[in-house]
Amino acid sequence: TDAAPAARRVLLKISGEALMGAGQYGVDANTVDRIAADVAAVSSSGVEVCLVVGGGNIFRGLTAAARGMDRAQGDYAGMLATVINALMVQNALEREGVPTRVMSAIHMSSIAEPYIRRRAVRHMEKGRVVIFAAGTGNPFFTTDTAAALRAAEMDCDCLLKGTQVDGVYSADPRKNPDAERYEQLTYLEVLARDLNVMDAAAISLARENRLPIIVFNIHEAGAFERVMKGEGKFTRIE
Ligand code: UDP
Repeated sequence: TDAAPAARRVLLKISGEALMGAGQYGVDANTVDRIAADVAAVSSSGVEVCLVVGGGNIFRGLTAAARGMDRAQGDYAGMLATVINALMVQNALEREGVPTRVMSAIHMSSIAEPYIRRRAVRHMEKGRVVIFAAGTGNPFFTTDTAAALRAAEMDCDCLLKGTQVDGVYSADPRKNPDAERYEQLTYLEVLARDLNVMDAAAISLARENRLPIIVFNIHEAGAFERVMKGEGKFTRIE
């Protein structure tokens, strides 16, 4: 199967967890550099790339709410965590020589541009990697949903979800050796089997907009570029 046949523009979702590397919290500099090098390779191949970064390595609204924090307030804090990650990713990309812009869904004019859809498109047409920060700008959402939303708005050919494993499995392959990896799934299969890929809001949004989702292992060096050529392991959802 071709992952992203002749993709012209793609969105890569990088979770906060991916940025931790082997750590338990925060950002691992080597991991961010490696991911940035992979993004740089795809960007310099002529594909327009935009990114949505998560914040779960720093703060999650839901976790805070479980300990008694107001959910919406916790979610706003979580969105700010994604801005921290966005700045780290921007820095790593610029050291790779990639022109970038951070666009934040929450106005933070001293450090990021406000998110303006047409302006984001223009940046990408000029070869800049746009990093979308602060999720959707709304509490009760996730950065997975933000990724599906921005990918639809940017008219991306596909949404790539970089995870800790090389695709979608029937169970967690790190815990269950019998877990089976799927090559291909439909949106409805993901929802009906409650597969742990992206939340239901993100899957539904992708489905409504016929946006293919490609799940691959972000920790394998070069995997992003290989998947763009239809090589290596991944799961395609459409
Ligand atoms: N968040 C939010 N609205 C959004 C995106 C994110 O409220 O549109 C908050 C939410 O609290 C979430 C946190 O930001 O827990 C970090 O994002 P997420 O958990 O999606 O990051 P990831 O799991 O990708 O690291």
